Amino acid sequence: MATVTLDVLRKEFNSGRLVAVDDVSLEVANGEFVTVVGPSGCGKSTTLRMIAGLEQPTSGRVHIGGEDVTDVHARRRDVAMVFQNYALYPHKTVRQNMAFGLRMSTDLGKDARNAKVDETAAMMGIEGLLDDQPSELSGGQKQRVALGRAIVREPDVFLFDEPLSNLDAKLRASMRTEIQRLQDELGTTAIYVTHDQEEAMTMGDRLAIMNGGVLQQTGTPKDVYTTPNSEFVGGFVGSPS
Ligand code: ADP
Ligand code: MG
Repeated sequence: MATVTLDVLRKEFNSGRLVAVDDVSLEVANGEFVTVVGPSGCGKSTTLRMIAGLEQPTSGRVHIGGEDVTDVHARRRDVAMVFQNYALYPHKTVRQNMAFGLRMSTDLGKDARNAKVDETAAMMGIEGLLDDQPSELSGGQKQRVALGRAIVREPDVFLFDEPLSNLDAKLRASMRTEIQRLQDELGTTAIYVTHDQEEAMTMGDRLAIMNGGVLQQTGTPKDVYTTPNSEFVGGFVGSPS
């Protein structure tokens, strides 16, 4: 487990003409589940990508578990990211997809890797899919596999980028519950990005609301709902005015 600290994190694009992430500071405690919410284009994914090491900040620092990882390569950060589009390897089986991350992140031998994949697949209810190719799976099954691939690595931090937005409403609701249960069980620090207010209000210990690259407010869903610090936040979370 690990804390995640963003220290005046900034990302500019187009030679500074676009400030995608505008000096965001945020501390996520060990084992905490923080939901980052805000309208499309407000800088959520860019923030997550900088934590994962997939994007280099223009300025500011990222700390994971007390270590400054700003200049550490993505592959050497102990984080697992789950994407909206699943990002499974299309020509690998489910087992190979799940084992691949383990091969990259641990020294486990093949038998030990397979045993871990079996264990995680059973936990996710996808043990019957291990020999399938991603193209044979439904959207919900693909997302289950993507989650399983993240979980099997036992990372210090989970990063979720709108993982449920391609699923229908019913499946979304059940996966939501499942992600919360997993996080309760595993106690892994998690940062969950969504543009869905309902998801944000129901899933996280704490909410971080972004707008135009700026972190507008952080707090428990209840605090943010009852005492929004701006018209934007009040409107976004549907506070009574
Ligand atoms: P969100 O995930 O909240 O929808 P993003 O972090 O994807 O927002 O994008 C924030 C802003 O940065 C948007 O205006 C987007 O167009 C821009 N942006 C993101 N990635 C790039 C990039 N690689 N090059 C140029 N602009 C980008
Ligand atoms: Mg995004």
